[in-house]
Amino acid sequence: MTDPRRVIATAPGKVNLTLGVGEAANDGSHALATLCMALDLLDEVEVRAADTLHIRVGRIRVGASSVATDTVATDDRNSAARAAKLLAEFAGLEPRAAITIRKRVPVGGGMGGASADAAATLLALDALWQTNLTREDLADLGARLGADVPFALLGGVAVGTGRGTELTPALAGGSFEWVLRISDEGMPTPAVYRALDAHRERHAPHLTTSAIPVVPQAALLALRAGDPAALADAMTNDLQAPALRSRGDLAAALEFGEAKGALVGIVAGSGPTLAFLTADAASADALAAAFTARGDTAVRASGPAPGARLGQRIR
Ligand code: ATP
Repeated sequence: MTDPRRVIATAPGKVNLTLGVGEAANDGSHALATLCMALDLLDEVEVRAADTLHIRVGRIRVGASSVATDTVATDDRNSAARAAKLLAEFAGLEPRAAITIRKRVPVGGGMGGASADAAATLLALDALWQTNLTREDLADLGARLGADVPFALLGGVAVGTGRGTELTPALAGGSFEWVLRISDEGMPTPAVYRALDAHRERHAPHLTTSAIPVVPQAALLALRAGDPAALADAMTNDLQAPALRSRGDLAAALEFGEAKGALVGIVAGSGPTLAFLTADAASADALAAAFTARGDTAVRASGPAPGARLGQRIR
């Protein structure tokens, strides 16, 4: 094999079609049952041989705008740096690489962007350093970096249980067309889980003691049938209520999207990105234009999309 000096990998953002959150364990973690779809909104990670570990974060135009990346750390807190160090440690190497991340997935938006960057970094550095790990090894390392990393490697559609890392691929009978309404300001995921716990504690403590979430069968059937209207009816998100309570602007945007033709709008993961499922590409284009005319940032996406891949820059 030739010695690559520069490798590029992409990885997708995702939307949780269903997200059931179980009770909080003593360590504060939650059992999840989720059905995730990878979308063709891709972050790119470029790695080059270097003397030290160095991270740069750039942005790419997505539709009429680009993702705000000012809040993303470029030190050891960055998910790509953590991925590089973990892979280097596993392979017995020094973590030497210059890593450039180009973001399309909104930062702190509930679409797993940091996890996508970790997944793309693992794949790109595996090629640059010629560590030649299996997908399974990479997924095991990924699970240690964050609950969404194995899914960013896998892509497509999958049921996730446990912390969300135990994945079973699901079948999708076609492509689904989305509009993502992006907020300038991200929302920290742990705060949304804490708000959910506090609400359950106040209002229904008896429900939090034994609830083990499941993925609704109706969602899996709709997905398999390639039926967006049925999928829209089956979509759920336990984090939606706490997300809407902490960000008052989101409810009106959900109403707007559904009034302008979306089959359904849902908070993406922990938010604040809103994901609107539409009947077809033409409806999605019209909805994205309606959001833009309202002064919002909205981008089109389709799914399911493949997981992390080695490849070229996307223009
Ligand atoms: P989660 O996957 O926890 O739901 P999210 O999808 O809401 O998170 P992300 O964009 O994945 O949001 O980022 C979550 C946090 O991780 C942010 O506070 C961000 O500053 C930090 N972060 C670390 N590395 C990255 C990265 N490579 N890209 C984006 N954010 C990063």
